[in-house]
Amino acid sequence: KSLEIAFEQNSFPVSEDQRQEILKDPGFGKKFTDHMLLIHYNEEKGWHNAHIKPYGNISLDPAVCVFHYGQEIFEGLKAYKAKDGRILLFRPEANAKRFINSAKRMAMAPLPEDYFLQAVHEFVKIEKNWIPDQSVGTLYLRPFMIASTPYLGVKASPDYLFMLIASPAGSYFSKGAKPVTVWISEHYTRAAPGGTGEAKCGGNYAASLLAQQEATKNNCDQLVFLDAGEHKWIEEMGGMNIFFVMDDGSLLTPPLGGTILPGVTRNSIITLAKEKGITVREERYSAEQWIKDIELGKIREVFACGTAAVVTPIGFVKNKEGEYQIHDGNPGKLTQEIHKMLVDIQYGNATDTHQWIQEV
Ligand code: PMP
Repeated sequence: KSLEIAFEQNSFPVSEDQRQEILKDPGFGKKFTDHMLLIHYNEEKGWHNAHIKPYGNISLDPAVCVFHYGQEIFEGLKAYKAKDGRILLFRPEANAKRFINSAKRMAMAPLPEDYFLQAVHEFVKIEKNWIPDQSVGTLYLRPFMIASTPYLGVKASPDYLFMLIASPAGSYFSKGAKPVTVWISEHYTRAAPGGTGEAKCGGNYAASLLAQQEATKNNCDQLVFLDAGEHKWIEEMGGMNIFFVMDDGSLLTPPLGGTILPGVTRNSIITLAKEKGITVREERYSAEQWIKDIELGKIREVFACGTAAVVTPIGFVKNKEGEYQIHDGNPGKLTQEIHKMLVDIQYGNATDTHQWIQEV
């Protein structure tokens, strides 16, 4: 299935000089490319009016559902520039599938996988001059969808607006690849069983901000959420999944089960680690045991992973009682190996034996 995507060129694009300046040091999520993509949905018409036009404000009726009841979902993926100039996408079909699952959970119209992929490919082709070099970063792609019917009744909207915007990106953490410090959130939780934890909906992130502020107040870069039932089991971070390297060399990560976002990076790391002969355990692990294991020297490494953060070492963990250093506080060996394996595939420096890469 394919869509007719109309194209209106931006007659006032960012100047060549300015773009080069941005591409040298883009930061994260602050600068946007010259265009944006839109697709409308209506219960009767289905998906229609797909077009790419100059990046800019959109006009919406103040009564549209998304403003009131938060019916919104999004995705995050990247376009990579290989050394030979090829433009690569990493497992975009996994994002397309997760977008469908998120839509279903939020009672929204699921955008067919083919449309999602076509939109990403066509849009990236148009914005290809906005992809930073390998030494700097990637072009971060943000597909999202909002409920667009002006109606104040609490029910699923019959109209949706899908959009795709892109932002050149350097490192997600201002520290680059240096180990981060994480805060264990003992009061706030992210997702309850039966809730929306495994959907990538805006509300999950809105609900995480106060906990993130608590982490920041405690001089931490990120936070670790515990389960909503017992406030005991480690689930994930604000925008990343988490892995532990145990003293027997095995990798441990909390199991998916409805409350954790099924990360594309998480899944890729599990696959790569298993192929390396590493034992991967998807098992529950409590915060209390984590601290005990750090004190007993049973934890070799801990890292966070996600599209934006890639693989980020965690050097320190804090809770109300104190601060604990993981091993020597430096990036661990396996963390660095996994990081390299992953980015080598993503940037086209290693053979893609998994059919994870799509060329634009
Ligand atoms: N958990 C949460 C809550 C996230 O927002 C993200 C980022 N999408 C992840 C995990 C990692 O997912 P992925 O590897 O697909 O980016």
